[in-house]
Amino acid sequence: MAVPILGTVGDMTTTSLTGQVLSPTDTGYDDARSVWNAMVDRRPRLIVRCGTVTDVVNAVRYAREHDLEIGVRCGGHSVLGLAVPADGLMIDLTPMGGVTVDPRTRRARVQGGALLGALDRAAQEHGLATTAGNVSHTGVGGLTLGGGMGWLARQYGLSCDNVLSYEVVTADGAVVTASPTEHPDLFWGLRGGGGNFGIVTMFEFRLHEVGTRALLANWTFDPAGAVEVLEGWRELSAAAPREATFTATSSADGVDVGFVWVGGDPARGRTLTADVAGLGRARRESVRELSYLELQTIEDSTGGHHFRRYWKGLYLDRFPVEAAAAIVARGDGDPALRPAMSLQAYGGAIADVSDDDAAYGQRGTLFELVAAARWSDPAQDAERMAAARSAAAPLTPYSSGVYLNTISDEGAAGVRRAFGAAKLARLAELKRAWDPANVFHLNQNISPN
Ligand code: FAD
Repeated sequence: MAVPILGTVGDMTTTSLTGQVLSPTDTGYDDARSVWNAMVDRRPRLIVRCGTVTDVVNAVRYAREHDLEIGVRCGGHSVLGLAVPADGLMIDLTPMGGVTVDPRTRRARVQGGALLGALDRAAQEHGLATTAGNVSHTGVGGLTLGGGMGWLARQYGLSCDNVLSYEVVTADGAVVTASPTEHPDLFWGLRGGGGNFGIVTMFEFRLHEVGTRALLANWTFDPAGAVEVLEGWRELSAAAPREATFTATSSADGVDVGFVWVGGDPARGRTLTADVAGLGRARRESVRELSYLELQTIEDSTGGHHFRRYWKGLYLDRFPVEAAAAIVARGDGDPALRPAMSLQAYGGAIADVSDDDAAYGQRGTLFELVAAARWSDPAQDAERMAAARSAAAPLTPYSSGVYLNTISDEGAAGVRRAFGAAKLARLAELKRAWDPANVFHLNQNISPN
């Protein structure tokens, strides 16, 4: 439904909003402003649920004419809820959630508001997939623009390494294509630079033949002795084939280590299990074959909505025994408040790409670490957040930087750590070219100044 809203600036008629426009008294407004992190409770002045590129163009123009802060929503999984502007205009892309796959050219056209599950399902109908994250209700938009890590990344690169072209609505409301041949500067910046340079209304992805089966292998150890287990796990991870992504999680339940195997015969993945099982005396073992689509949704409920959330992310380029010990400890203070600490291995095809190739700038990462807190009682907010910070802090000496998509409230310092000084300077120059007024600033912001 198109609900045009006409306004005037001086005596000039301004752009009409199109799409479904929601104001605070409308049915559906509260649903549309709710995001993954239940701590986020901001009230936009208007929400425009965009169904077309024209709706997005009109929303950008209208917001600028009325001096409204813009938030851009895809999956709503930014931990800070950056998609939701207080008293501003939220551009909700979720009605633009379509995916079309051409199995012949192995390409997918994915609208800017699509969730990962839609991409996975459409591609898997043909035994195809591209790198996508681990939780199917995450947005393709935010995930891919920040880089995009998933179980296929060690074989095929990050999500952003698989984008062939972007359709973008710019800060002045133009619609452009960014690809290696059209606006290559913008193409470079969109590959890891986040939502800074425009609103992507279409991603064109390269797909790969990955089959439909996967293997998930996990062993749980008691914290006593888990440091040695993690050290052995690190060695196995370094030698693992690209189909295997090693994972570890330290939580109140113990220390889990294992791997996910995709993109090849699961029987070959099983040949790795004896070595991991041999790392110690596991309390629990689970090795199971499952479909790729099941794998891609297996964390959907633990990663689900309606909880209060906070995290600290770090990229580790070293994993000495002190780092393993800090992961097992999960900080100090009340054990009941400590976050879960998870590790996911990088390497493989991620590191094949040269650092200059894209805005994304952490190709040498060994492991991505996330200290993630999840709770329900608002009275625990401060303690839970402090516990996550203190759990991650001892890992900082082993960190080369941070993943743009796991920055939380680090602000400009976090963005600097994500890119490093030289790349950030290049990104700031690009920002001056494409968004000099910093219209798109509700993101992990690259300042034009
Ligand atoms: P949103 O909050 O909708 O968007 C975040 C920001 O991205 C927006 O503020 C906007 O600036 C920008 N944006 C989104 N869409 C567009 C668009 N179309 N055009 C322009 N700008 C846009 N990351 C991984 O790499 N791998 C994972 O496996 C992974 N798993 C996760 C699991 C969970 C449960 C969660 C909460 C996060 C996970 N992440 C993962 C991190 C995730 O990549 C970021 O949180 C990302 O910002 C989520 O994007 P979104 O579209 O869902 O969020």
